[in-house]
Amino acid sequence: MRPDRLDYPVSSDREVAVMRQIPRWRENAACKDADMNLFFDSEDANLRKTALAFCAKCSVQPQCLYTALVLRENHGLWGGFSPRRRRTIFRRIIRIAQSKGIDTSNYNQRFDNHMFTMCQYQNALDI
Ligand code: SF4
Repeated sequence: MRPDRLDYPVSSDREVAVMRQIPRWRENAACKDADMNLFFDSEDANLRKTALAFCAKCSVQPQCLYTALVLRENHGLWGGFSPRRRRTIFRRIIRIAQSKGIDTSNYNQRFDNHMFTMCQYQNALDI
């Protein structure tokens, strides 16, 4: 696996499980009742600023970012991060995992746990 790519081999079962969890954490999302177009129009700076204000106060930001990483989502703001910034975060997650001796060549529970933990420290990762 190339650690600079966002396509680590997650199992399809895990993807399905993560997708099924979305409605649960979305219940507590700051953007729950917002116009989702805000989060998918990265060309408009004002809309983007409005979207980021939701993410900054969102209690489920780690779940949102983690979901985007697992699903290799290439569009929109998730967890307050653009696709490009999520790729940067993912590369850092991989590097930290490898420094801890976690296998990153295949999907495994230890790496998955590591990724979710790192999503909770997302602001530190986005440096
Ligand atoms: S982090 Fe942002 S995009 Fe994700 S659920 Fe919260 S407000 Fe919505």
